[in-house]
Amino acid sequence: MRRVSILGATGSIGQNTIDLIARAPDDYDVVALTGGANITQLATDARALRADLAVTAYPERLEDLRAALAGSDVIAAAGAEALKEAGARPADWVMSAIVGAAGLAPGIAALEQGATLALANKESLVCAGKLVLETARLNNARLLPVDSEHSAIFQALVGEDMGAVERIIITASGGAFRDWPLEALKSATLAEASSHPNWDMGQRITIDSASMFNKAMEVIETREYFGVAPNQIEVIIHPESMIHAMVGFNDGAIMAHVGPPDMRHAIGYALHWPQRRDLPVARLDLAQIGQLNFIAPDMARYPALRLARAVMARGGLMGAAFNGAKERALDAFIAGHIHFTRMAEVVEEVLTRFESDPDLIDAAMTLDNVTQTDHLARKWADQVMAQ
Ligand code: NDP
Repeated sequence: MRRVSILGATGSIGQNTIDLIARAPDDYDVVALTGGANITQLATDARALRADLAVTAYPERLEDLRAALAGSDVIAAAGAEALKEAGARPADWVMSAIVGAAGLAPGIAALEQGATLALANKESLVCAGKLVLETARLNNARLLPVDSEHSAIFQALVGEDMGAVERIIITASGGAFRDWPLEALKSATLAEASSHPNWDMGQRITIDSASMFNKAMEVIETREYFGVAPNQIEVIIHPESMIHAMVGFNDGAIMAHVGPPDMRHAIGYALHWPQRRDLPVARLDLAQIGQLNFIAPDMARYPALRLARAVMARGGLMGAAFNGAKERALDAFIAGHIHFTRMAEVVEEVLTRFESDPDLIDAAMTLDNVTQTDHLARKWADQVMAQ
């Protein structure tokens, strides 16, 4: 039996992971599940999967969780330290699917105990790529990508020499506003930004797809995980979301990973790696799909892509600043305080402030420094938005 934990179990990735695990209950011993506000889902899954530990991120919800778990053997806990404890509990495989920078410390804890970390939480690599990779290396822990693009790249690279890789092309659906007139973007509503043309995901990543902040983060994630130079990474709009990524080699060949837009493929690949097992995803009917389209991204429509290039060029803790400012701007858009297009402006203004203070950006990449940079970026984003 493999011991597995799921960080962010109540979310979109977490529930898809549980779907796969629940199909083969005899294969898995569930150690820890974590969630946030959705106590009912967390307790229901913890009971059904007979988890040892269930953690809510919010201390004020601990009593609710205890009540929901009454009569079971599941231990209830809450708060940031308990989330780290969930990651640190001995397990063979840990899914990192908390949304946002909050996923970094529990994921690091999982790597420190030597578990294989299936990484959906892209913020970990954006904020602290070097720290995450170094922690994995020092603890002989494996890091497997779950983001569909990075799983696709990983699969296209099996048996290949990184020295022969010329370029990596990640695809983007173009999000909810791909075909909108540019001038209409400012007035895009929360409901409009929260609906994705192809993927069914959590609300925050769906809005990040519409603004292309999600793709910007994936470009940085690609650089960190695969160690390629920024100018080797390309983004192309592919409205059908069937090709998830492509790797171009020095002999002119391009390996493309094609599959239905269902995260259970990438999750299942990371769960069963290095084997391939049957997965309950649709099989593509290529004749019915008929054609696949590719369009160069319009940089005026997607300023987040330009910001990602600036973050990679600067390096250091700029990724943590970028993510912290983006998360705060996204909070403000969701709360109805700023326009859709204001998000990128806020992030850019915060990055400009950081640029003028190199000591902050060039500080050592420790968990403390990443957390401090994240907090400062959020504070400065608030100040920019209050102006
Ligand atoms: P969801 O919003 O659906 O779920 C997020 C999970 O994190 C939930 O379990 C939520 O708990 C929990 N959570 C929220 N806030 C906190 C916090 N402050 N501390 C601890 N836990 C918290 O997100 P997704 O599943 O869509 O995404 C998860 C991660 O995976 C993100 O990093 C995303 O970018 C990445 N990803 C997602 C994809 C997708 O298809 N959804 C595809 C590729 C990557 P609760 O709901 O109980 O409040």
